[in-house]
Amino acid sequence: METLQEVKTRVYKFGNKTADGNSQMKNLLGGKGANLAEMSLIGIPVPPGFTITTEVCTEYNLLGKDTVVEMIKPEVEKSIENIENIMGAKFGDKDNPLLVSVRSGARVSMPGMMDTVLNLGLNDEVVIGLAKKTNNERFAWDSYRRFVQMYGDVVLGMKPESKEDIDPFEEIMEHLKDKRGIELDTEFTIQDLKDLVYDFKDAVKKRTGHDFPSNPWDQLWGAVVAVFNSWNGDRAVYYRNMHGYPADWGTAVNVQAMVYGNMGENSGTGVCFTRDAGTGENIFNGEYLINAQGEDVVAGTRTPQQITKTGSLRWAELAKVEEEDRVTNYPSLEELMPSIYKELNEYQEKLEKHYSDMQDMEFTMQDGKLWILQTRNGKRTGAAMVKIAIDMLKEGLIDEKEALLRIEPNKLDELLHPIFDPKALKAANVIAQGLPASPGAATGKIVFFADEAAKYKNSILVRIETSPEDLEGMNIAKGILTARGGMTSHAAVVARGMGKCCVSGAGALKIDYKNRILKVDGHEYHEGDWISLNGSTGNIIEGKVATIEPELSGEFAEIMNLSDKYATMQVRTNADTPKDAKVARNFGAQGIGLTRTEHMFFEVDRIKAMREMILADTVKGRKEALKELLPMQREDFEGIFEAMEGLPVTVRLLDPPLHEFVPHQLATQKDLADEMHISLEAVKNKVSELEEFNPMLGHRGCRLGITYPEITEMQARAIIEAALNLKAKGIVAKPEIMIPLIGTLAEFESQEKIIRDTANTVFEEYNDTIEYLVGTMIEIPRAALTADLIAQKAEFFSFGTNDLTQMAFGYSRDDAGKFLPIYIEKGILKVDPFEVLDQEGVGQLVKMGTEKGRSTKKELKVGICGEHGGEPSSVEFCYKTGMNYVSCSPFRVPIARIASAQAAIKSEK
Ligand code: PEP
Ligand code: MG
Repeated sequence: METLQEVKTRVYKFGNKTADGNSQMKNLLGGKGANLAEMSLIGIPVPPGFTITTEVCTEYNLLGKDTVVEMIKPEVEKSIENIENIMGAKFGDKDNPLLVSVRSGARVSMPGMMDTVLNLGLNDEVVIGLAKKTNNERFAWDSYRRFVQMYGDVVLGMKPESKEDIDPFEEIMEHLKDKRGIELDTEFTIQDLKDLVYDFKDAVKKRTGHDFPSNPWDQLWGAVVAVFNSWNGDRAVYYRNMHGYPADWGTAVNVQAMVYGNMGENSGTGVCFTRDAGTGENIFNGEYLINAQGEDVVAGTRTPQQITKTGSLRWAELAKVEEEDRVTNYPSLEELMPSIYKELNEYQEKLEKHYSDMQDMEFTMQDGKLWILQTRNGKRTGAAMVKIAIDMLKEGLIDEKEALLRIEPNKLDELLHPIFDPKALKAANVIAQGLPASPGAATGKIVFFADEAAKYKNSILVRIETSPEDLEGMNIAKGILTARGGMTSHAAVVARGMGKCCVSGAGALKIDYKNRILKVDGHEYHEGDWISLNGSTGNIIEGKVATIEPELSGEFAEIMNLSDKYATMQVRTNADTPKDAKVARNFGAQGIGLTRTEHMFFEVDRIKAMREMILADTVKGRKEALKELLPMQREDFEGIFEAMEGLPVTVRLLDPPLHEFVPHQLATQKDLADEMHISLEAVKNKVSELEEFNPMLGHRGCRLGITYPEITEMQARAIIEAALNLKAKGIVAKPEIMIPLIGTLAEFESQEKIIRDTANTVFEEYNDTIEYLVGTMIEIPRAALTADLIAQKAEFFSFGTNDLTQMAFGYSRDDAGKFLPIYIEKGILKVDPFEVLDQEGVGQLVKMGTEKGRSTKKELKVGICGEHGGEPSSVEFCYKTGMNYVSCSPFRVPIARIASAQAAIKSEK
C-alpha cells in the first residue's frame, strides 16, 4: 500500500494545448476533468488547471483528510506552479495574484449536485493587488464579495436555517439594498461591496465560531475537502440512488485558473448547447449575460440573453418583447459581439464533431477573449435523445449501431406518457406564458415547496426558482413551473434530465411563499388548485386539461424499426386483456409471454361463480360452478388470441391462493351467504379454512390444480376451445399453456396429463385440432436446480423472476417494502432486486435453469416473464443467458426492444 501510494499519479494537469489525461479517462478524472484535458489537447482555449482523481475521493473516505492532504500536497503544489507559469501570476501573491475555481466532477454529470467555488485565493490584501492589477477596484471587490459568499455557503455550510428563510448572505444584501434604496446588485457602490465582505465574514464568525480563512492554501484545501464531502451529501446520495450509481465511484476535483466574465461590458459568461436539448432540433442555442460570472446564468436572477439571433427572435416572441426593446436591451451574442460569436460557433461545431454527440458547453469572455470552461454530452429529453440519434445517423456522424446505443432505454418511457388532447387544449384558458424549458404535458395541484410535492397524487411544483435542494420534490412533482430563470436555469436543466415537464421564467407570476399564493394578472391561485403546464409551448393553463395516449411515430418509430434489425432476442408482453394486448402489439410485441388468468375472475359476474366454486364442498359442486365460468374464460381467450392473431400467447393457469377470491368483510360475507342460500357460519368457516400463515408459500400455483384438478381442466378446455373457435373463423391462435410454481417433475406431469387429456377430448368433440405447447414457469429454486428433469416433459420454460427473487433471497414479496428501502439506504443492497434482476445470485439460478433445461432439450424455448423482463440491465442479462424472449408490460415493450438490440450490439464488440 505504501509503495503504491508513492507511485500512483493522483493529480493530472491540463492547459496550453497539453494535458496529462484525455476524454477516455472519465472514471479516473470525472467527466468534467476528462473533457477539460481533451479540449486542451485539441486546441480549445481552456483555462489551465488540474484534476485530483476520483480515486483520491475514495482514499479520502477511507483514510481521512490529513493523510490524503499530505499524500497529494506535493503534486498539487507542482500543479499550481504550472498554472502560475502559464498565467504569469502567483497564487496568494499580493501584487500579481492568481485566483482559481474549484469544481467537483464525477464520472457522470450530476447537475447541481456538487458545489463550485469561484475566485479562490482572495483575502484582504490580495483584493487590493487584484484591483491594481486589473485597474478595476469594483471588479476586485465584487469578486471578493462573491468568493466569501460562495465559500461560506459551500465550504462553511452557511445555508438558510428554515425553508421560509432566504440565504443568510442574500439577507444581508437585501438589507443593504433596502437601506440604500436600490434594487440591483450592479447598483452597489465599491464601499457597499467592502461593507458586504465585512458583514459576510462577521456572519460566518457568528454562525460557525471561526474566522473566515484568509490563507489561500487553507482556502484551497478547505474547498477540495468540501468537494469530497459533498459526494456523500444528501443531495448527491439521493441523485446517486435515483440513478443507481455506486458510492465508490467518488468525485474528482477540478482546480482551474479563474477567468472573469465580470470585468465589465466586454466580458460575460454563458451556457450553450450544440442542439436543442428539449426537442433535439439541430440548432445551436444558448444563453449568456454580459458582465456576469459563472452561476449567474443558471441562477435565474437576471434574464439571460440568447446566443443566436434566431434564438433571440424566438425568445422575444414567447416573452412578448418588442423588437426595439429586444435589440436595445436583449441583443443576441451574434448581434452584440459578432467575432466572439463566430469563434464560439467554430468551437461548438468542432466539439460536436469531435465527440459525435450533442454538447453542453460553458464559456466565459474576459475582456474580449473567449474561454471554454466546460463541455459535456448534453442532458436531453427522451424525445431529443431519439431525434438526435436518428439525425446524427442521417448526417453520417454515427452509424446505426451507435445510434441504437445512444438510446437510454428507460428514457423512452417519457415518449410513452400521455400528451394533452388537442381538443381540450383549444378550450383551455392560458393564464400566462413561460419558456418551454422541458417538453411534456403536466396537470396537477399547486405546491410551493419541494418537500411538499408528495402532498397530492399529482402536484405541480411552483417556485420563484429552484435549487439543488429541491431535487427530490422536483422528481416527485408531475411538472415544474418557475417565475425566474431561462432555458438553462437549474429548473430547466434538471427537468430535462429527468424528462419532466417544465415551464421556466414565467415573469408574470407573483409567488408569495408565506401565504402560499400564486398571483397572475390579478387572479389568485392557492395551494391545492389545479393547473396545467405545456412544456412544449410554455403555456400555463388554468385547471385540469384532458390527455390522450401517445403514438409510436416519426423518429421514435424509426429507431424502433432499426432495433429490429439488430435484436435477436424477441420481446413479448405480459397482458391479461385484449386491450393491453393491442397496445403491446402496436408497440411491437412479438407475442404474449404471460397472461395471468386470475385477473379474469374478479369482474362482478365472475367473482360470484368463482366463490361458488370455492365454497362448494364436493367435486360435483365445483364442476357446476366451473361450468358457469367456462364460457367467460373462453371468451376472454378468444379476445386475446384474436388481438395477437398469429403470434404465440402464453396462458398461465390459475396461480394465486383461493383466499384472495373470498370476502373478508362481514357484510359481504352475509351477502354471499344469502346469495348461495347457505349459512353465514358456513361462509365464515370456509374463509378461515382458506386462511394461511404464509400465502406466498402456501396453497397456490400448480398446488391448486393438483388439489382441484377440475380447475385446470376447465381452463385447459377454455383455451383449446377458444383456439378452435377462432380457427373456424380463419384466425390462427398459438396457445402455449403454462403451469405455475412447479418445483418437481411430478407436479408438472400431473398437470400436463390433465391438459393433454382435456385437449384430446375437445379435439374429438370438435373433430378438429390445433397446435399448442405445454410448458412451465421456473420460479421456484428447486425447479431451476432440477431443470434438466423438468425439461424432459416441459416444452418451454418461462422464468418467473418475481417469485424466484422472493424465494432465492427469502424476502416476501408482500412484506419486502418494509425493509428494502432501509437496505438500500444503508447500502446493503444497491438496488431493489424485485426491480433489477440480481445477476450475482438469482441470475445463477436463471443461467443454471436454462443450461440444464437445454442439456435435456437442445431447442427448449426459454423466456422471462417476471417484472425484470422490461428492465434494461436485466434484459441484457437475459440475452447473455441465451433466452429466446423477454416479456414485459405493454408500455415497456419499446424499452425492452431497444435493450434487446443493444445487448446484441454490445456482445459483438
Ligand atoms: C413471477 O413470479 O415472476 C411471475 C411472473 O408470476 P407472478 O408475478 O404472477 O407471481
Ligand atoms: Mg410467480
